[in-house]
Amino acid sequence: MGRNTAFGRIVEAVETSERSRAPIQKTADRMAGYLVCFALACAAVTFLLTHNARSTISVIIVAGACGIAAGTPLAILGGIGRAARAGVIIKGGLFLEILGKVDTVVLDKTGTLTLGQPRVVAIDEEPGVSRTELLRAAAMAEARSEHTIAAAVRQEALRYEISAPSPDTFDFTPGRGVMVTYRGESVLAGNRAMMVEFGVPGPLPKVRPNTTEILIARNRKVLGRICISDEVHPEGVEAMREFREAGLATVLLSGDASTAVQHTAGKLGFDVVIPDLLPAQKSDRVAELTRAGKVVAMLGDGINDAPALMQASIGIAMGSGTDVARESADAVLLGDDLRRFVEVIHIARRCRRIIMTNFAGTLIVDAIGVALASFGFLNPLLAVTIHVTSDLAFILNSARLLPRRTCLRNRPLNRTSTLSFAH
Ligand code: ADP
Ligand code: MG
Repeated sequence: MGRNTAFGRIVEAVETSERSRAPIQKTADRMAGYLVCFALACAAVTFLLTHNARSTISVIIVAGACGIAAGTPLAILGGIGRAARAGVIIKGGLFLEILGKVDTVVLDKTGTLTLGQPRVVAIDEEPGVSRTELLRAAAMAEARSEHTIAAAVRQEALRYEISAPSPDTFDFTPGRGVMVTYRGESVLAGNRAMMVEFGVPGPLPKVRPNTTEILIARNRKVLGRICISDEVHPEGVEAMREFREAGLATVLLSGDASTAVQHTAGKLGFDVVIPDLLPAQKSDRVAELTRAGKVVAMLGDGINDAPALMQASIGIAMGSGTDVARESADAVLLGDDLRRFVEVIHIARRCRRIIMTNFAGTLIVDAIGVALASFGFLNPLLAVTIHVTSDLAFILNSARLLPRRTCLRNRPLNRTSTLSFAH
């Protein structure tokens, strides 16, 4: 059977949803089964010791497990629904459960912490190179790149009414830049590491602080550089405060150069900031954290973030990010407001608390109920009343999580996102 047939896809979807079932739900199912066995065993013992049919029946009737068996999936459903209302689409109960345990949040810079709408703030040509020549080469190099930097460069060329030819070949090194060829010429656009990697001889222009700089080289000769700046999300500062209040450690991982990263991260109070990372290094850093026992949520938007998103305990893609990021992630943040992510962490924690309360409550009620019934203190009618009331109470406890209209925080999603999932 082909994986790409409609049936194959349905099977795959079922397999995926089975794998992403919350472990707590499996525990709940097992526990409910044990409770039934426990009630039957107690009933048998009661009958053997007392030969009282009334007490025996009361023992069987009083023990309920619906608070666990039905309450758990209901709470998870409610949690996922409420998270969706808050703007985070979670791809399964498993991930909601992990979200409830997250203690470390790792953010990517460009497009996650910043708006992902960079603007060109300065252009420096090398002596003897005209601005038109530099921008034409840059726009040609960036013609096919999906990176937000590329869009900024193309936009700037348009502003100068420069139209660039389409390159013959295109090559992209994540976290470094792009290389294209056109009629036998090669053009590079990327960071310093990219220039060094491709053997562009120095001296390279001096670093311009506080911006992301893209060097442009044609046939291994530097033509100049384009400096780009991207603003932090307006909600970024408040989101960072909310992260801290929720007791989460914050880490910033970026492929960008140190000065640009420090400039952005400086005032935000990250616990750890690491610049100059290649995609594989980002995922290595995340792996280090998970190995150290941290439960890591990684938020990213780019192709370069995909390996780290997969590596984290839970990967969250920005709604406006690349398709690759969205497909590698376990959850998607619509609207890109990081505060909504904190809100969902609180929802997940609350969901966990509710499930645990139901577990404990059911066990206590069942234990007391069975003890009273076996000693003959309960008649079947009272046993039924206790069973139904307690189960109802626990189910209603879970149902508190089901989203209501009024629970929506009054925050409009600040950017519309087009979402497309592969499955
Ligand atoms: P971040 O981790 O901050 O999102 P990336 O890993 O996407 O950053 O990019 C890291 C660096 O790689 C950029 O700051 C830039 O210097 C360089 N780079 C990546 N893609 C391109 C591109 N298309 N053109 C030029 N430079 C690029
Ligand atoms: Mg990014």
